[in-house]
Parts: sequence; C-alpha cells; structure tokens
Amino acid sequence: MATGRPDQALQSAQAAFDLDPARLPAATLLARLLAKVGKHAKAVKVLEQAWRQSPHPDLAKVWGEASADQNPLTLVKRYEALVALKPGQADAHFALAEAAINAKLWGVARSHLDKVRELAPTTRTYRRLADVARAEKGEGPEVQAYLNQAMSAPADPRWRCTSCGTSHSDWHAVCDECGAVDAITWPKVGKA
Ligand SMILES: [Zn+2]
Repeated sequence: MATGRPDQALQSAQAAFDLDPARLPAATLLARLLAKVGKHAKAVKVLEQAWRQSPHPDLAKVWGEASADQNPLTLVKRYEALVALKPGQADAHFALAEAAINAKLWGVARSHLDKVRELAPTTRTYRRLADVARAEKGEGPEVQAYLNQAMSAPADPRWRCTSCGTSHSDWHAVCDECGAVDAITWPKVGKA
C-alpha cells in the first residue's frame, strides 16, 4: 500500500525469476505482480518462458489473469495462443476448454476436453464434459455417464508435501501441516 512497496516486491520477484526461470512459484508470482501494475505484455512474456520450460496448471491459470482484457471471448483467444505455444499440453487444452465454457462455446469446449481425454484425463476432465453435456442437452444419460467416468478417472494432481504427504491447493514455501521448508512439490502425472 505504501509507495515503493509494490516496486520492491516486483524487483525481488524479478530477481527470483531470473535466478531460476524454471521455478514455477517464482514465475507465477512475478507474472501476477506485473499484471497488477498494468504490465500485461511483460507478464505474458514471463509466462511464455516458464510454460515453454514446464507447462503447469498454475501457469495456465495466471495466463488468463494476466490478460488486460477479461472479456470471455478474448480469453478464449488468449488460451488458443497458449495451446499453440507448445503442442500436446493437456493443461493448455483444459484451460482453453474452461475459457470456452465461460464463453458458452460448447463445441470448442468439447473438442478441447476430448483432446485432454487423449492426453491425460483426470476427474476434472469428465466433470467439465458433464457440464458441457448438461448445458447442451440438459440432465440425462450422457451427463450421468461422464459423472461415472469422473469417479473412476485418475485424481486431479495437486501440490503435495514430500515430508508429510499433505496435499495443498497452492504452492507454499513452508508446509503449514508439518512446517517443512521447500518440501511442497508437484507430482508427475499423465504418463501412459
Ligand atoms: Zn508437510
């Protein structure tokens, strides 16, 4: 809030990112801070660099947040750009599908969810397919079939503490369950 503080936060986030651009929490923090001060293009550059090295759902999430224009149709276009950045990334196709759902572009959403199904389907893939089927045709056997598939699909990956095994929805430097420092990691998923 005080003058100078946001600049300082930005500088240290930039330093952390420069030190290790592959470190995901550094990239998402820097991109968020840049977008907050209106430097959207620069935020996107940071996310592009990080995404090329290691795509991750958190980067996909900030990708949308960093867009200067939050119109649902614009966000669909932004996520199309993310898909194009590096082919075959389930997290990009999923994020694009979610943007399409928000824009009520059901056909676009379904085609990208089908792509996720080929690449690395998890619970959320089938939940969203059920949402699309419900929006298009209402409750019925198709929705129920997707919900059944969601139950038997692999669980969505989450951040996990390597020290105590607790799962976390966001990355933290310190595990609030066991106090371990720098122990929260992202599991490898989607291996055929
Ligand atoms: Zn822990």
